[in-house]
Amino acid sequence: MIGEIYYSRKFLQHKPENYHPENPGRLWVLMSAIRELMLDDRILEPTPVDENFVKKIHNPAYVEFVKRAIREGRRYLDPDTYISPGTWDAALMALGASRLSALAALRYGGLNMALVRPPGHHAGKRGKAMGAPTLGFCIFNNMAAAVLALREEGIKKILVIDFDAHHGNGTQEIFWYDPDVIHIDLHERDIYPWTGYETEIGGGLAKGSKVNIPMPHYSNDADYIFAWNEIVLAVVENVNPKIILLSAGFDGFKGDGLTTLKLTEKFFSYAGASLRKYSIAFIFEGGYDVGLKKGFPAFVKGYEEIEVNDNGQPSYETLKVVEEIKDILSPWWSF
Ligand SMILES: [Zn+2]
Repeated sequence: MIGEIYYSRKFLQHKPENYHPENPGRLWVLMSAIRELMLDDRILEPTPVDENFVKKIHNPAYVEFVKRAIREGRRYLDPDTYISPGTWDAALMALGASRLSALAALRYGGLNMALVRPPGHHAGKRGKAMGAPTLGFCIFNNMAAAVLALREEGIKKILVIDFDAHHGNGTQEIFWYDPDVIHIDLHERDIYPWTGYETEIGGGLAKGSKVNIPMPHYSNDADYIFAWNEIVLAVVENVNPKIILLSAGFDGFKGDGLTTLKLTEKFFSYAGASLRKYSIAFIFEGGYDVGLKKGFPAFVKGYEEIEVNDNGQPSYETLKVVEEIKDILSPWWSF
């Protein structure tokens, strides 16, 4: 069942001066897929969060820094991450939409979506996270807004899955010491932001709550589906969550442009179908080209109806990394 879809034209007002892969056109592609899927009637205008809410996620000095930079008319926070006059409203609306999609998942079940920009999973407490060189196109952490929304409703254990092709270093940093945020992150290894290795498992009492799956370069559907079955679904079954919060990025699609991954509709349909029995809050992250055109509708259709088989032989490198992850995490999870 498809639940609510949060989208606002305000998201289009965060826009670059010159060409940039993270641009408003990305949402036009998603919205035309929504129309083709005949889900237009599910679209709702979100309400933005206020500044105090943002300061529950990020260090107040970082929030003030972003606000001032936008007011002063600066064009970039760093070489990757632009800002524009509409960025502040778009970013607060993106947090609001993410929060509402989590609440909708809790109240009504099904697949609820926050189709937002700017993206968020690289934004850490003080901006750049875990030594990353830049914010990676992100301003505030939308996933953290979804986590806070569930917390405010009294949900203690929260499960996050991030299948964007890049590591969700901001989300990981924000919840590093929180044992009740289980964060499973599947991404290409040794690319931006150069974190998300299998040995990163959380700090202090939260050890074991962060599950990183750094996939080899050129991984394909068979590799991803194998890792998904062996690690992602295994941990999900251990946790048995009411709701799954999903950082959904489609930049692992073959030819999307920013990574070497070779995923197709098959992986994204499979991922959707395998999560059908859970309520989901889907928060849009990356995906810049063909991944949006093909990967996004494949995921939604997978969740709704399609059955996908998981045949296919993973590579030796994939088998090896999956075994290593199981070894490292076996004190906390049964695989
Ligand atoms: Zn990405």
